[in-house]
Amino acid sequence: MTDTAAALSYHDVELAARRLEGAAHRTPVLTSTTADKLSGGTLFFKCENYQRMGAFKFRGAYNAIAKFDDAQRAAGVVTFSSGNHAQAIALSAKLAGIKSVIIMPNDAPALKVKATKEYGGEVVTYDRYTEDREAIGRRLSEERGMTLVPPYDHPDVIAGQGTAAKELFEETGELDILLVCLGGGGLLAGCALAARALSPNCKVIGVEPEAGNDGQQSLRLGEIVHIAVPKTIADGAMVTHLGVHNFEVIKHHVDDIVTVSDAQLASSMAFFAERMKMVVEPTGCLAAAAALHGVVDVRGKRVGILISGGNVDLSRFAELVTAAA
Ligand SMILES: *Cc1c(COP(=O)(O)O)cnc(C)c1O
Repeated sequence: MTDTAAALSYHDVELAARRLEGAAHRTPVLTSTTADKLSGGTLFFKCENYQRMGAFKFRGAYNAIAKFDDAQRAAGVVTFSSGNHAQAIALSAKLAGIKSVIIMPNDAPALKVKATKEYGGEVVTYDRYTEDREAIGRRLSEERGMTLVPPYDHPDVIAGQGTAAKELFEETGELDILLVCLGGGGLLAGCALAARALSPNCKVIGVEPEAGNDGQQSLRLGEIVHIAVPKTIADGAMVTHLGVHNFEVIKHHVDDIVTVSDAQLASSMAFFAERMKMVVEPTGCLAAAAALHGVVDVRGKRVGILISGGNVDLSRFAELVTAAA
């Protein structure tokens, strides 16, 4: 295993921030008196649901593609994704003027498939319960000479995602706790690098779905734990294991990983809609749910919370929010 924790540093996040300047939105940091009252802490929500294509994934995808050389640009980019990374790659490729092929599960949310196609991505589908998307990705990259940019297990993707926390700390100053949504660990690893540099005493905590606590198990065991595809409403975190590059950073710089239930996610979606007038997708609520439901004790603390995305079918949104109300 390569020691990417040594190779990947906050400097890479700074370089990514320069590449993203003028391309990514500097998303707002919002506060809510009601959320503070509910949780007992002072919460700062970094709203990546307002990022281009609706999630932080634009940051990592754009950063990776911005580093392509001429030969890579000529052949194009290929990736696999359950949704937001697909849109992020399709949009970034379009902005860079290169071709993209996206491998998506056949049960991916319709909105995400539609958006990916609209951004100009060629969509290839697979069965997430029986087929290995990474193998399909590797085969396509070999057959067509395209560069594979995976959704999280890549240094340039991690560095790009870290720019979200960089912006947050620049706005809030030092924090006591940073809560980050966790799937494969791109966002958590990148944000942990930013936290260590900009707020060294800040506790960095990843939040994953209860149904798939492989990250929590991995951190405790000190090695990457593989699980079956978790069944959860957090479709952006239905991953079976952390990435290798991600875990190298996470095991050095992340203090803890906790889990939240689907009911807590749905309740947080309802909270954001009702109180803050925001559409947040189920996966986007992971970090917030940990604070709003007391999974992490934030009383008396200044807490940064990554809201990771807002892409959810309206009918699905209505269903989840109504059931939670
Ligand atoms: C991808 C995604 C996550 C998980 O990010 P990782 O980098 O895979 O840990 C969380 N929330 C949303 C909205 C996502 O799209």
